[in-house]
Amino acid sequence: MEEKLLMSRDITRLEAVTAMRRDFIANVSHELKTPLTVLAGFIETLTDVDLDERQKRRCLALMQEQAKSMQRLVEDLLTLSSLEGDRNPMHESEFAIVPLLLEISAQAKALSSGRHQVTLNISDAATVRGGRDELASAFGNLVSNAVRYTPAGGRIALDWRVTDNGGEFTVADTGIGIAAEHIPRLTERFYRVDRSRSRVTGGTGLGLAIVKHVLMRHQAELVIDSEPGQGSRFTVRLPARRVVPLAEPVATEAPSAPA
Ligand code: ADP
Repeated sequence: MEEKLLMSRDITRLEAVTAMRRDFIANVSHELKTPLTVLAGFIETLTDVDLDERQKRRCLALMQEQAKSMQRLVEDLLTLSSLEGDRNPMHESEFAIVPLLLEISAQAKALSSGRHQVTLNISDAATVRGGRDELASAFGNLVSNAVRYTPAGGRIALDWRVTDNGGEFTVADTGIGIAAEHIPRLTERFYRVDRSRSRVTGGTGLGLAIVKHVLMRHQAELVIDSEPGQGSRFTVRLPARRVVPLAEPVATEAPSAPA
């Protein structure tokens, strides 16, 4: 009797990974190409055209803007690649959360430069076990988004509390909000609801992907609630085993301008 051996292999996952890699490379190339084309154009103008002092300064300022946008993209790409995979284990330590929250609040106020009312409410002091720099970068990205997607005059409220389930850090804003269909995709690399708005405000499209990776490394989750035109609320939930409450009184910062 003739026997046949049939071998099959599931290559759907492999194909998906290959497609993802291809998309990623195409996205990075596109994101770098745009500022690079503008820069090359200005270099050509400066070389070929006799500009007066004022025009030259304007040209250089625009070039600097493009260079900065490329710099931000490369920095975010490096951060993301250092967070991915097991090659780069996390530097864990136990650190006090209150000083970190004060730094994040100061960062929010500096980014807003008086355009929003920024408040920080700390309900409980605590020690957190994890990567301090990584969590600072994740919290910082959420704060930077709140500032960038909230028109002047809006409010940004930072809140930290300890619950039975762990620690909760929330950034709530009264900004433009996000339609429900976009929410599940926000942490994908280069996913943006509005490409032009993200660019104008200096976004790389990688902020929430960085947040997602940092939180994964801490077994933490990100909860996003949003209402278009009303505002958004991003909550980071750190697991209980990473949070030790401290019996210390904590203060709430006075709100910043505008009142
Ligand atoms: P970007 O650099 O474009 O801000 P992110 O990964 O940080 O990239 O965010 C992805 C997208 O999620 C943004 O382009 C924006 O459309 C949306 N988004 C993020 N945070 C907010 C927020 N606080 N309010 C409104 N939209 C937001």
